[in-house]
Amino acid sequence: MMLHQRTIKTLTRAVGVGLHSGHRVELTLRPAQPDTGIVFRRVDLPEPVDIPVNAMAIVDTRMASTIGVGGAKVHTIEHLMSACAGLGIDNLYIDITAEEVPILDGSSASFVFLLQSAGVEKQSAPKRFIRVTRPVEIRQGEGTGLKWARLDPYHGFKLRFEIDFAHPAVDSTGQSVEFDMGSDNYTRDIARARTFGFTKDVEMMRANGLALGGGLDNAIVMDDYKVLNSDGLRYDDEFVKHKILDAIGDLYVVGKPLLAAYSAFRSGHGLNNLLLRELLAHEDCWEIATFESERQAPQASPCPRTRGDRRRRARMLIFRAIVMFLVVAAALCFAFYAATGRPQYKRYGFIIIKWMLIAALVFFAVLFLERIV
Ligand SMILES: [Zn+2]
Repeated sequence: MMLHQRTIKTLTRAVGVGLHSGHRVELTLRPAQPDTGIVFRRVDLPEPVDIPVNAMAIVDTRMASTIGVGGAKVHTIEHLMSACAGLGIDNLYIDITAEEVPILDGSSASFVFLLQSAGVEKQSAPKRFIRVTRPVEIRQGEGTGLKWARLDPYHGFKLRFEIDFAHPAVDSTGQSVEFDMGSDNYTRDIARARTFGFTKDVEMMRANGLALGGGLDNAIVMDDYKVLNSDGLRYDDEFVKHKILDAIGDLYVVGKPLLAAYSAFRSGHGLNNLLLRELLAHEDCWEIATFESERQAPQASPCPRTRGDRRRRARMLIFRAIVMFLVVAAALCFAFYAATGRPQYKRYGFIIIKWMLIAALVFFAVLFLERIV
């Protein structure tokens, strides 16, 4: 079984507001053919404009990642891209009615939910990875202004991120975190981490026409001392986990899942994109990889359960419950027989066992037929 590309089964919609623009926006996610990649489509313009996602199409990284072709742009794509990476979606059309992806709850959990409810579909084409073969690094600033990000060869995809905010609410939580796409769980451990901001920055940003759609329902907001959200944090280390969420989305704009170990100190959208450009500029540092069998493949290809898997699991559970019930019933019959000596109890016991065997035969026959079909 080769490792396949993935898209979604049916189209699905979401409505929300842009974090920075505050504009209402409608998002429609649609299945796409193999090797399409992820393509944003501005459907509100006089002529719809397609913006295929790739590292060179990122035109602005202040506050958020913005993708553009000609004059058409889409801002704040990173959380949706992160959800696509987390679920291993290779091909997708994203129709959008404004210049910014809706912020929803400030994390990627809503996008994950949206994609999962549309259903993930395996496609016929092999999944292509970008395998990093030599380390690539980007550094900026010095001393307290230092930040860096790097990619090292790794058979899988893992990230290590460290932040340094010098803020009491952030410092008291975890400042660094490591996440391995193979062994950890994106949906559970990363997707719910929200974006965050400080009230003093928010005021400044608003004055500049930014963060107009931001608030306590789609971001963690802090004053100089503490978190202002009444329900607190979703993870103990939600801040640095959101940086991992962002990095996963920022790196996925390269167009294919990476096989690499990413590590970063105080990096952001800008540095993450520079790192990708540095990688692509050095053709001796990477190669395209596909895998003939799932066993050879790294664990970097998260395999979310499909609807089919879930149906099979549900069936297995029902089957087990019925078997348990019948075993108990048969045991009771024989126990009554032993206690009372009445032969009909023995007969009932054998009847139950007979039907149990017939049911098991039918069940395994169905499983076997499914496997060969
Ligand atoms: Zn973010």
